[in-house]
Amino acid sequence: MADVLKRVPVREQDPKVRATNFDEVCYGYNQEEAMEEASRCLNCKNAKCMQGCPVAINIPGFISRIKEGDIEGAYQVISESSALPAICGRVCPQESQCECKCIRSIKGEPVSIGKLERFVADYALEHDIMPQKAEKMNGHKVAVIGSGPSGLTCAGDLAKLGYEVTVFEALHKLGGVLVYGIPEFRLPKEKVVQKEIEKVKGLGVKFETNVVIGKSTTIDQLMEEEGFEAVFIGSGAGLPMFMGIPGETANGVFSANEYLTRSNLMRAFDDSYDTPIAAGKKVAVVGGGNVAMDAARTALRLGAEVHVVYRRSEAELPARVEEVHHAKEEGVIFNLLTNPKEILVDENGWVKGMRVIRMELGEPDASGRRRPVEIPGSEFEIEVDTVIMSLGTSPNPLIASTTKGLETNRRKCIVAEEENGQTSKAYVFAGGDAVTGAATVILAMGAGKAGAKGIHELLSQK
Ligand SMILES: Cc1cc2nc3c(=O)[nH]c(=O)nc-3n(C[C@H](O)[C@H](O)[C@H](O)COP(=O)(O)OP(=O)(O)OC[C@H]3O[C@@H](n4cnc5c(N)ncnc54)[C@H](O)[C@@H]3O)c2cc1C
Repeated sequence: MADVLKRVPVREQDPKVRATNFDEVCYGYNQEEAMEEASRCLNCKNAKCMQGCPVAINIPGFISRIKEGDIEGAYQVISESSALPAICGRVCPQESQCECKCIRSIKGEPVSIGKLERFVADYALEHDIMPQKAEKMNGHKVAVIGSGPSGLTCAGDLAKLGYEVTVFEALHKLGGVLVYGIPEFRLPKEKVVQKEIEKVKGLGVKFETNVVIGKSTTIDQLMEEEGFEAVFIGSGAGLPMFMGIPGETANGVFSANEYLTRSNLMRAFDDSYDTPIAAGKKVAVVGGGNVAMDAARTALRLGAEVHVVYRRSEAELPARVEEVHHAKEEGVIFNLLTNPKEILVDENGWVKGMRVIRMELGEPDASGRRRPVEIPGSEFEIEVDTVIMSLGTSPNPLIASTTKGLETNRRKCIVAEEENGQTSKAYVFAGGDAVTGAATVILAMGAGKAGAKGIHELLSQK
């Protein structure tokens, strides 16, 4: 008999093989495995896992449907709260949200909630099962800016309530970071992201691509001239940060966003596309978050020896444990407690190396993590031909600077109420990375839901 304290293991591509391709790493559960894993759920009356979910999915509810073999029913339970379950099942940090609250984790391993969500959502995609549509339109018209997880969630929730919703997206493809940031090997684009967006379209949401709000038109024009009664801003935080060290403008230095956009959105990894990317023989990725892991694993798949350079120790790496584990398995080398001082440049203006310094951990700083402190005299050089800076991002100031009365804070984030997304401007709401700075898919979705609720509370009184 299976050990109930342990999860049903999930099948994955062999690390040596996957380090050379862009196919999805994790294969997910089949129905038999999902039903066995679901049987580990204790169906707690006071389900703590739900408290850990920012969109409050009825987790015991959908898992009990899986136990009964009613996968379509499980999907309908999830879709009451989430428009993007195949995406969340793959990229949500479940280990620090729903799963860490699972009662099973006291004595053993928590129920694999994320992998079960993924199984149900993939089943719904394969079998064309649609979420419930609005029975009739309510006559109100809302604009959503940005087609990332916050915008898609807000749009989907409003469409279900009968609103006429148009999403305006600056890029030619829909999905935000889901398409241009997170790589194919973690989140397949055609098989998962585009199909899940099709479901949002199926709810009646209209999409307009190649529209940059703040340039093509403005929020004030949408409201004053085009009849939109409310606007939700979900424009993300796509502006990369740099260190300000010498050599950072050399050829061969990328922001992680640019590097990943070239590979994911412009498919530089695909031989049938001619998008250039400095594949690099020896690549340094500076930073330790999910974005850094994605850049490192992409560079590895493009054929490079990859070094992650991070100024704190392994315990402080902000990336998901699963991503660090996968990166190590695939052969990414971690240079921890190391910080760049200068990028070394050759006579033609190309990167030839990096001067770095060893660090040690001092007292905790404002973030609660121990502050990295330089060890005097410990500088040394590493030879690299490409450097990818992955130090975080902030919101692009374009929308705030072209919208009258929209308040931002000193980090350039739009100021909005947490519970309903209301900004300083009447009938304008905001959420996701544009408000919080770079965060997570599920938090952006939670903010999209809150924004939809705020808009509905306001417009339904009109
Ligand atoms: C490489 C990478 C890996 C990540 N990995 C994970 C992960 O594993 N798990 C996780 O939970 N989170 C992860 N994140 C974070 C997560 O993807 C983001 O927190 C989330 O996508 C934010 O959603 P959003 O809707 O606020 O913004 P975004 O996803 O950034 O979408 C914003 C959209 O608005 C559009 N836009 C911007 N300005 C305008 C304008 N002026 N007019 C019209 N459209 C505009 C943009 O083109 C974009 O499509 C990752 C992020 C990156 C970059």
